[in-house]
Amino acid sequence: MSIIPICPKCGTPAIGVATEVLLHFAKTTPPPDKRWAACVSASCPIAYFTSGQTIEISELTQALWYKDARTNVPICYCSQLSAFPLMHEAR
Ligand SMILES: [Zn+2]
Repeated sequence: MSIIPICPKCGTPAIGVATEVLLHFAKTTPPPDKRWAACVSASCPIAYFTSGQTIEISELTQALWYKDARTNVPICYCSQLSAFPLMHEAR
């Protein structure tokens, strides 16, 4: 049985992420050996959380596409692909 993490701010079921994700996105170095989760609610300011600690989107080095409606936010961070070309091609 796996335990689904729940965002402490909005109560949305979250997705477990590796600490490496936070090393890439967070401005401050996260404590190691903690189980981090990502809140994917578009309206919640919490980006990542673990027991007793949260990281808000304002504390990240990059915007998260699922929390930011701007079309120039990368949806693929490897290639810096943003939503705009995809939306343009769909028309
Ligand atoms: Zn949340």
